[in-house]
Amino acid sequence: MSTRVDSTLIKELKEYGAINPEACINCGNCTAICPLTTSEHPFVRRTIRSVQMGLRDRLVASIDPWLCYFCGDCSITCPRGAEPAETMMATRRWLIAQYDMSGKAKKLYTSEKHVAFTIFRTSLLPLVLLIAYHIITGGSKIATDRVVLNDFAPVMWVWAIVLLHFAILGWHLVRNSLNMIRNVLGPNANLASIPLGAYVAGAKDFVIHFFSQRQWWSKCDPEERKVEISRWFKHMLLMSGYGIMLILIVPLLWWFQTDEFYPIYHPQRWLGYYATVILIYTSVEILLSRRAKKEEIHRFSHPTDWLFPSFLLVAAVTGILVHIFRYMSLPWPTYIIYTIHVMAMVAMLDTEVGIGKWTHLVYRPLALSLDAMKRKAQELAEALAPAD
Ligand code: SF4
Ligand code: SF4
Repeated sequence: MSTRVDSTLIKELKEYGAINPEACINCGNCTAICPLTTSEHPFVRRTIRSVQMGLRDRLVASIDPWLCYFCGDCSITCPRGAEPAETMMATRRWLIAQYDMSGKAKKLYTSEKHVAFTIFRTSLLPLVLLIAYHIITGGSKIATDRVVLNDFAPVMWVWAIVLLHFAILGWHLVRNSLNMIRNVLGPNANLASIPLGAYVAGAKDFVIHFFSQRQWWSKCDPEERKVEISRWFKHMLLMSGYGIMLILIVPLLWWFQTDEFYPIYHPQRWLGYYATVILIYTSVEILLSRRAKKEEIHRFSHPTDWLFPSFLLVAAVTGILVHIFRYMSLPWPTYIIYTIHVMAMVAMLDTEVGIGKWTHLVYRPLALSLDAMKRKAQELAEALAPAD
């Protein structure tokens, strides 16, 4: 791989949220303080050095930014105010854009106007489809004396469109992940020559880290660990609410969007209530912390940091309002809020899956599994090498 010095890289990283990387004097304090750094991965210093030197090729092949869980300790101890934690975060956004061949991630992170336009455009799509459906059916499908949601928006049609949308977004995510693997392993890597044992080690690490995210706190010292476990717990709580919401609207929409009135003990109601409460609590907490800027990790916020919690809040509030209005038998409030809910969900998924915050969930465990795979391959090669 060629190592071409690119003097524009530092400026580019600033567009993605790096604050003051040019102030770094390479003293190494950040690397010494970071609980997650290792001798094989001596970030943060190495990452900042790559940014300062414009080593684009080295940076794009690095997994180091994905090993950082953004505790902020390195920024607190930096004697130069170079904000190394922000550079790590900005590098992750930059890497997402490098893996993404559609160019959407780059626009998401570098152009607020583009984000606003994309949200506007994608959120209009379900509205246009609904209007078109009712024009074709002559408007006869809207019950106004009672709520019949599945006449207003037939669940099987909505479900088919949701599945199609997810298939497209899922394909983007898979394609971008393959791009990440190519970048990390190198363009000339011979995947067939990697032993099966290394693939197994990598797959095992991917599953473990995807579901547990335990790297977040497992290496911290006891005092720090309490803080990080509390952050990890909130994250897992959010993921449980988000995961349930996704299960209800993707594989189970045919069951979840109903005109039935179920008793209070029905599992459908409790799954919906759990997801709603968790999503409202965690998204409000994140938004308030970002606004207060008291915690180190919230001192600076990139515009996209506001997007995901805001979308979650809108999705949860509109979702529960649809439920309330339906139970109150208010047809038009139900239909209008349902339309807003679907518009927000489509815009959220389009700006998050494959290019936004969502990708951290996949790229972090993938980075750790690629690391495990490389180590296992090396171990197996050494075991097979003839002794001197
Ligand atoms: S970012 Fe700060 S702490 Fe880290 S090497 Fe540079 S000057 Fe030192
Ligand atoms: S933010 Fe925390 S985990 Fe990330 S590099 Fe700095 S000290 Fe390490």
